[in-house]
Amino acid sequence: MAGPPIRIAVLHFSHETVTFLGNDTTLADFIHGGSPARGDALLNWDARSYMGGFVQVAREYDGVELVGIESPLWPRTGTGSGWVTEEAYETFVGRMIAEIAVEGPFHGVYLCVHGAMAVRGVPRPEAELARRVRQAVGPDAFIAGTFDPHGNEDEEFLRHADMAFTGKYFPHYDSHLQGQRAARCLVRAIRGGYRPATATVKVPIISPTVLQWTGASPWMDLVQRALIWEAREPDAYVNVFFGFPWADVPDVGMTFQAMTNGDAALARLIADDMARTAWRHRKALLGSTKIHAIPEGVALAKQAVARGETPVVLADHSDRSGYATWLLREIVDQGLSNTLIATVADAGVIGTLKARGVKAGDPFDMPVGGLADPSSGQPGRIVGTVLKAIERAGQLWVGVEFGRGNVLVISPYLAQIQEPSELDLRPDSFQVIALKSRVHFRRGFDDSGFARTILLVEPTEPFLGTVRLDALPYRNVDLTRFYPYGNPRFPPG
Ligand SMILES: [Zn+2]
Repeated sequence: MAGPPIRIAVLHFSHETVTFLGNDTTLADFIHGGSPARGDALLNWDARSYMGGFVQVAREYDGVELVGIESPLWPRTGTGSGWVTEEAYETFVGRMIAEIAVEGPFHGVYLCVHGAMAVRGVPRPEAELARRVRQAVGPDAFIAGTFDPHGNEDEEFLRHADMAFTGKYFPHYDSHLQGQRAARCLVRAIRGGYRPATATVKVPIISPTVLQWTGASPWMDLVQRALIWEAREPDAYVNVFFGFPWADVPDVGMTFQAMTNGDAALARLIADDMARTAWRHRKALLGSTKIHAIPEGVALAKQAVARGETPVVLADHSDRSGYATWLLREIVDQGLSNTLIATVADAGVIGTLKARGVKAGDPFDMPVGGLADPSSGQPGRIVGTVLKAIERAGQLWVGVEFGRGNVLVISPYLAQIQEPSELDLRPDSFQVIALKSRVHFRRGFDDSGFARTILLVEPTEPFLGTVRLDALPYRNVDLTRFYPYGNPRFPPG
């Protein structure tokens, strides 16, 4: 597709910040093999996600030049770290803006962000990035962003940027598709074929992410409603932000955005309809998934094994550091066998094993996990044999066999296992698989039909990843402004 040559700057800055964790996300955490990245290294990163979709479609157009501006990739800590330091944010944003000034002018900018990054001293980091990029590229350039549906967003981002595209599903099946749409609309806008008109509506509902599985109603119905609007109105796009309650930031809660081609009234109508639909179903939205206390969940797993309803998945949704040992200890205490526990994070243990040159068959006797903060509990002593040293994305993971056919996988950081095949440990040979995941595991363990029993669990005490949000020490959020913790009015006034 030909047209006058256009230049688009491509930036990435993503994190999902659990501000209740004690370990800040530092500048050093963002600097690791491959990160920061620029040029083709940035453009070719994450080919199956937002970035990959954007680059694929942008390159279908003739005369479109993409310029990969130096950007941090995800920090080495993944989602297992707290507040991003102002030093980290300012360092990378400062370099981005300086490089845009040198490399420009640009007709457009693509911001590949998440939406739930939380930065000390910067209340809305994605909107602030858009504001500074706007200053750098001027009023005539178009700015498009892609977001994770867990973003905490309000109208501020679209005050500075022109468009936003958010994944609709949880598990996030459509990230690549949203990147594609961002590229198509951005090129069309630059060439005069699309005039973004947007509306943003916040709905005072706050929910823990484990309940936001879009495989069940009414979450599934919200996705469907958005898809119907996109199907019936040409050039309409609908974003559903479920929100991320573990970031103590002013724009938490649910948010809807709609965008149309030049029809502001239609965008407003769609966003209002989506918001009212969510509000009508607020009670069911909060009740779609049953959460068990860990002792009860493990007992139910044993019963399921006795009935032959295996494999059983026990998912501790609440562990945000990765170090939590509550589920591991309960599995040992209740004497489960043939159980795979993946993972307990312990960077110290991994460092020690690495220094020893760990290999299959080595005896193992060490305390594992715990102590990262109160939510991670006490270390669990495991006595067994090293089954396997696993090389994963430049990290060492170690599988340890113990008890009656149990295997514990130790990783250096929090890990969400999404597919049974991921660990190369013959997962179908286990009766119980214990994971640290909220919803992403459903990709390979539920939607695929793999597991016959699925039990979501959390510790008895309401630690930082609990569904009991009113136990959390919020400083920037008044929970009584949100359903189900108060009686907010909607629509307001
Ligand atoms: Zn997400």
